[in-house]
Amino acid sequence: MSIESDNAKEEIKEIVEKCFKCGFCKKLCPVLKVVREEQSSPRGKAIILDSGYVDKFIYECTLCKACEEKCPLNLKLCDSFIKARQILVRQKKELSENKEMIKNLDKTGNIFGIKD
Ligand code: SF4
Ligand code: SF4
Repeated sequence: MSIESDNAKEEIKEIVEKCFKCGFCKKLCPVLKVVREEQSSPRGKAIILDSGYVDKFIYECTLCKACEEKCPLNLKLCDSFIKARQILVRQKKELSENKEMIKNLDKTGNIFGIKD
């Protein structure tokens, strides 16, 4: 699926196109430590997003920002990941777990669906 949405596409591009693929951001990524595939690394995500592609791989991230701390350019990678997730939500292509959380939030005001 291509990124289709309005400004989000440009805003993501503005961040990830500056990446020069050094890989310093990979050092502390907790997801990469477990998954051990380049596309799950912050650099891998930046490269894929720069190509204009967004899909559920973008949820393989805790948004901990450890990658941003290591990036010599201080790229706001998490902002780009969040914007990519927003695109998926708008397209109703988010994870089923996310759909459940949104439904719970609407019904009960919290993501767990717990009523007072
Ligand atoms: S924010 Fe995401 S990509 Fe960056 S280090 Fe944390 S888990 Fe990895
Ligand atoms: S540290 Fe920054 S410039 Fe280097 S690969 Fe990661 S995001 Fe790109």
